Amino acid sequence: MTDTQYSQPHSFTLGSDDVTFRGSTGSYTKRLSDMAGVYGEPDAFEQLVAERGEQVAYVVEEFRRSEDGGDLIFGLSSLNPGRIGREFAVTRGHRHVLSDRTEIYYGISGSGVLLMEDPNGKIEALDLVAGSVAYVPPHWIHRSVNTGDMPLVSLFCYPADSGQDYAVIERHGGMAKLVVIDGEGGWMLEQNPRYRRTT
Ligand code: ZN
Repeated sequence: MTDTQYSQPHSFTLGSDDVTFRGSTGSYTKRLSDMAGVYGEPDAFEQLVAERGEQVAYVVEEFRRSEDGGDLIFGLSSLNPGRIGREFAVTRGHRHVLSDRTEIYYGISGSGVLLMEDPNGKIEALDLVAGSVAYVPPHWIHRSVNTGDMPLVSLFCYPADSGQDYAVIERHGGMAKLVVIDGEGGWMLEQNPRYRRTT
């Protein structure tokens, strides 16, 4: 009789300056030129892409053993700082395909917010800074926003069967609110003029 083969455990090593992830199964990189349609000021975006479209917007490194319902996907997201017009740098953002699936973010370094929107268009922006933990409830669209001047690095973890629906944000013309400079060195929420909620 042969023993059943079980998956191997994995671990992260988290440091304040240097984050290593032993055993990641994959990664992807989004460049500024990949972010067309995301920002509220197209002219500012076009100019930035013309100047440095190949610059890295964010990198995700993850451990994804399977997409089974009982499994977890976890990893690190590193979102570079920057502004596109008055708007702070964001990740593309998504809702889960199985939209009742939840997620946890843990801030490792940098400073920003986790911007979330429920199906009624209600917005919440929670601090995502070193040491903070943010919970994304079922059905909420979510994206990270870097409001600081260094990379915003966070750990994320969600059920492996969640899937990621990016099209919902495009259908709506973005999220209901933008995170923009407040003129006093901080950030504030502003209504997104392109936003139109659909079902
Ligand atoms: Zn998610």
